[in-house]
Amino acid sequence: MNELASYLSGEWQRGTGKGAELCDPSTEAVLATVSTEGLDLAKALTFAREKGGPALRAMTFAQRGEMVRTLSKAIYEKRDELIGLAIANGGNTRSDAKFDIDGATGTLAYYADLGKELGDTQVLVDGDAIQLGRSARLFGSHVYTPRHGVAVHVNAFNFPAWGLAEKAAVALLAGMPVFCKPATSTGLVAHRIAEIMVESGALPAGAFSFLAGGVGTLTSHLEGQDVLAFTGGSSTGRTLRALEAVVARAVRINVEADSLNAAVFGPEVEIGSDLENLFTADVVRDMQQKTGQKCTAIRRVYVPRGRLAEIADLLAERLRRIKVGVPSRDDVGMGPLSTKTQLRDVREGARKIAEIAKLVHGSIDTVEALGREGDKGFFMSPLLFSHDSPSASDVIHNHEVFGPCATVMPYDGTGEDAARLVAAGGGGLVTSVYSDDAAFQKSCVLGIAPFHGRVTIGTSKVASQALPPGMVLPQLIHGGPGRAGGGEELGGRRGLAFYMQRTALQGDRAVLEAIAGKR
Ligand code: NAP
Repeated sequence: MNELASYLSGEWQRGTGKGAELCDPSTEAVLATVSTEGLDLAKALTFAREKGGPALRAMTFAQRGEMVRTLSKAIYEKRDELIGLAIANGGNTRSDAKFDIDGATGTLAYYADLGKELGDTQVLVDGDAIQLGRSARLFGSHVYTPRHGVAVHVNAFNFPAWGLAEKAAVALLAGMPVFCKPATSTGLVAHRIAEIMVESGALPAGAFSFLAGGVGTLTSHLEGQDVLAFTGGSSTGRTLRALEAVVARAVRINVEADSLNAAVFGPEVEIGSDLENLFTADVVRDMQQKTGQKCTAIRRVYVPRGRLAEIADLLAERLRRIKVGVPSRDDVGMGPLSTKTQLRDVREGARKIAEIAKLVHGSIDTVEALGREGDKGFFMSPLLFSHDSPSASDVIHNHEVFGPCATVMPYDGTGEDAARLVAAGGGGLVTSVYSDDAAFQKSCVLGIAPFHGRVTIGTSKVASQALPPGMVLPQLIHGGPGRAGGGEELGGRRGLAFYMQRTALQGDRAVLEAIAGKR
């Protein structure tokens, strides 16, 4: 049996005890086991702080950027092997696996370019210097320097490659050592990426640590200069925010959690138009891709009242074309859910929605899955619901069904009403608005914006080049308020701030500029 190891204090180590099993969600076969029992995590964190931190801080942004570029290339070279692991352990189709793995290498490459652009400096200057005294000598300015702790990254099961890489790229470029703890259930891809990163030789000792398996005592050893970046469910996020170590030592924490993302179909959009095609493709892709296990997937679809049945039928017709089954088959478009627990949770959530909404496509308890062995595997049918009288307190507005499930609901045709219903989700990662009507766009988008980290606006003019709302871009921020965790990641240079301390400097302008590396 393949027993996964952790990379701690500069060496690969295995925990003791029976450990957890990592499965193939199509066959339920056990692929590997993993345990973190008995591992010295306090020592590993100290090693990262004392060895990795100074080594990274001695490098310039340009040098760290080159290091990140080497990682991107090394991972890309093993793309096919990683795709195979994602199909086996994640239930990913080939296309799902590419989305995750190419997202990882693309994000690393983007931050490598940013390092080059920031150049041969170790300090980031924030904004212009401000004159404080009577003469043009006494000034104030703000600088960012890397924090002297460890960046602990706790990731969700659905993006084992991208989740690891998007956080690691930003932290390493900022100059902080990374301590990655991926989700246990889909850990094979993350584990292989960790091996590739270590084997690349690009990382100084202590710059990267990897904990395969349960979190153990990791978070109890956090210190004031450390940061904790978490992606996962909101209840785990709440637990982490309340950790004694986090509260007592004011550990900086970023939480990326659940989101009931929405799509709004504009009042004037005609069936058969480019805009309708964009909307339909986005909704169906988000239900199908990664079997709906995407934090950014569209869960709520708002359409003008009076068009509910027409649009629900349109979506249902497209969903009928999705072939569910073993994801290694070329004819399969949607693989299984990742774990048995996921299957149970998705079915339970769907049953709650079924109490108030009409199921217009799919079945909660049965599915025909191509290539399935008997009743093995965690397969699930896409589920489309329609609900004609949505209210803010509905389960649809407060329970995330993390699978191939969405609900179509009406709004009164105004941007204000659409925004009111979207906001009932309690804060989200992304919502997409499809309309060419300028007044509708403005009222809807400005109504939605305070409740979201990102809004995508589909119009006829950009329909042919629009990027899917579910695609997180390194150039733009990712995260959202409220239910979505209140976090913010990526966004180019903005993402570096989490891993750095902003300090106000006061004094002689020439001294400030010399310290900041301007002279
Ligand atoms: P989860 O159960 O909250 O687990 C997330 C991570 O937290 C895993 O690595 C898990 O480890 C770890 N964990 C669990 N309990 C912990 C504790 N007490 N202390 C420290 N770490 C702990 O979430 P999930 O099921 O993996 O992911 C699905 C959820 O993530 C969905 O709700 C989805 O919306 C959300 N998500 C959000 C984003 C975003 O960017 N906002 C992205 C992806 C997913 P083990 O696996 O070892 O239990």
